[in-house]
Amino acid sequence: MPETLQEKLDLVQQRIHAACGRAHRDPAGVRLLAVTKIFPADVICEAYAVGLREFGENYVQEMEDKAGAVAGLQGARFHLIGHLQSNKTKKAAQLFSAIDSVDSVKLARRLDAEGVPLDITIEVKLSHEESKTGADAEGLADIVAAVRASGNLQLKGLMTVPPWSEDVERSRPYFAKLRELGRRHGIGELSMGMSHDLEVAIEEGATWVRVGTALFGKRRKP
Ligand SMILES: *Cc1c(COP(=O)(O)O)cnc(C)c1O
Repeated sequence: MPETLQEKLDLVQQRIHAACGRAHRDPAGVRLLAVTKIFPADVICEAYAVGLREFGENYVQEMEDKAGAVAGLQGARFHLIGHLQSNKTKKAAQLFSAIDSVDSVKLARRLDAEGVPLDITIEVKLSHEESKTGADAEGLADIVAAVRASGNLQLKGLMTVPPWSEDVERSRPYFAKLRELGRRHGIGELSMGMSHDLEVAIEEGATWVRVGTALFGKRRKP
């Protein structure tokens, strides 16, 4: 079992490489988003020290609490991957380089109105789970248009989180669907796959995998 962060990172990178090999993909086309939610700021500093630069956080308030401690990490970029309420766009625009969870036209407009450049990924909900956030596939075109019409937002990608299952093959149809939506809307980046199902996501075209547990271990409950 890997113990240090470096060993865990090596293992995650081996998994990414192996999946790319099977899918005949260049590993350079799959980027790793290190998900540090619930972990303290020194875990981000440790991750930075082993070479990680792109970080995912779920909560605006938590990022605000950590921001001071990570301000000196040159080149580190923070993505908001958790749901964003439209009354928190000002803080979010200050704290994050990328908002990966945009799920409405209203939210896109509010983020644009904050007047700072932001990379945008639209979160799409492809299952019928009540608990999940994200735009319906039917509403996607309007959000895409709103982001493309904005002055400050750069449309980068689509994200999805399939329903949790022990059986990673159950994620595959959701990932394939996201790839199809990306193709249809001319959107290049696909953020899909987490610690347990990143291989399937890469086989289906993920350009970002979001990995928390496999790098940092189990999270305590928020
Ligand atoms: C927490 C979280 C992850 C990381 O999940 P792990 O299973 O710990 O790798 C990825 N994406 C989102 C949206 C998350 O909330």
